[in-house]
Amino acid sequence: MRMSDPWDLVVVGAGPAGSATALGALTAAPRLRVLLLDRADFPRDKACGDGVAPDVTDVLAVLGLPGLLDDWAPLRRLELSHGERRVSRPMRRPVRVVPRTVLDHRLLQAAVAAGARWERRRVRSVRVSRDGVVVDDELSARVVVGADGAYSVVRRAAGLPAVTRRAIALRGYVATPPQWTGKQVIAFDQRHAQAYAWCFDRGDGLANVGYGAFGTDGLTRATLLERLGELLPGAEDGDDWRGHHLPLSSWRWAQPGGRLLLAGDAAGLINPMTGEGLHYAVASGALAGRAAAAAVAAHRPGTAGARHRRAVRALLGRHLRHTATAARLSVLPAVLTAGIAAADRDQSVFDDLVDLGLGQGRLTRRTLSALSRALIVP
Ligand SMILES: Cc1cc2nc3c(=O)[nH]c(=O)nc-3n(C[C@H](O)[C@H](O)[C@H](O)COP(=O)(O)OP(=O)(O)OC[C@H]3O[C@@H](n4cnc5c(N)ncnc54)[C@H](O)[C@@H]3O)c2cc1C
Repeated sequence: MRMSDPWDLVVVGAGPAGSATALGALTAAPRLRVLLLDRADFPRDKACGDGVAPDVTDVLAVLGLPGLLDDWAPLRRLELSHGERRVSRPMRRPVRVVPRTVLDHRLLQAAVAAGARWERRRVRSVRVSRDGVVVDDELSARVVVGADGAYSVVRRAAGLPAVTRRAIALRGYVATPPQWTGKQVIAFDQRHAQAYAWCFDRGDGLANVGYGAFGTDGLTRATLLERLGELLPGAEDGDDWRGHHLPLSSWRWAQPGGRLLLAGDAAGLINPMTGEGLHYAVASGALAGRAAAAAVAAHRPGTAGARHRRAVRALLGRHLRHTATAARLSVLPAVLTAGIAAADRDQSVFDDLVDLGLGQGRLTRRTLSALSRALIVP
């Protein structure tokens, strides 16, 4: 289908946000003509901790994919430490650690099965014209969703500046050491504010290990590996290392009106406390797809951006303000230690913090008062 016959929806990027966009659109309007583009062939890897929060599986179920990841072991225990202070507790709902070669490929296959057309293409230009959007001077669409990750071409075309608050992280795989079997382990760095090393057991004999730091100044691959080895000795012996930037969300989330929509990392949606981005990717993708489908059905494709903005703000607006506040507070080592102490004392505070870091939770009154108590009596 070329210029003369526009696609209803072109999605740039077929990661979790892009496939969720296609699925969101096609579950709302099964006859919609959806083209999904990615510069990579699939299965493709992506630097990630591979931690799939329960809120991700909730969104996938709504998109018609219940049980998509049931063959991967559920992880129930989370261990957090900052120096000597430590908490190890069961999570209310399990996380799964699923390599992105598996997760992203399954999602893309589901989008194609739902009716999306998939093509390999590196998109270089996106231009809004009087009656549509032109991609690479070759394809035309009523609506385009940019799900093209941290260095998004569509974000630039929509006139939004690149996200300046970024983290950098490096991940590898190691044979799961016995002391880290069956859990997610996070060791916060005392030498670098807002940085941590992790080891997430996949349940198949391998664990995803890595180190991420919020702010990117002066951090080289060698420094990241050195910090990982110091915090989780042995983890630095892994292989298959891969690094990437994380564009972090802030107090306010921007989406222009019009025909260009953004989802996932392209929309600057990564939790600034934890680096979690998969839930935001599938949730914002599903909403972008539905907004595009509704705008096309109403013969008003130019309203898609405003519909998407309203939907994302309704779902995540308050949560994003709370995580922005929590991320600012947790720069202070005393607050981080107090948070771990409070979570160690009270399972419900632990649960609230997990929801804030991995899902759509808020800074609850219960958590704030437990934090203040822990600041007074560490
Ligand atoms: C080291 C690390 C660890 C992380 N750990 C976790 C974790 O444990 N849990 C979690 O929830 N999140 C984690 N994240 C964040 C998570 O990886 C991202 O938030 C997630 O990948 C966002 O999905 P997305 O679909 O928006 O973008 P991506 O997964 O980056 O997909 C974007 C797609 O767009 C394609 N693309 C880009 N440009 C173009 C173009 N011009 N034309 C065509 N295609 C294009 C790319 O090939 C890619 O397939 C981590 C991130 C890093 C870097």
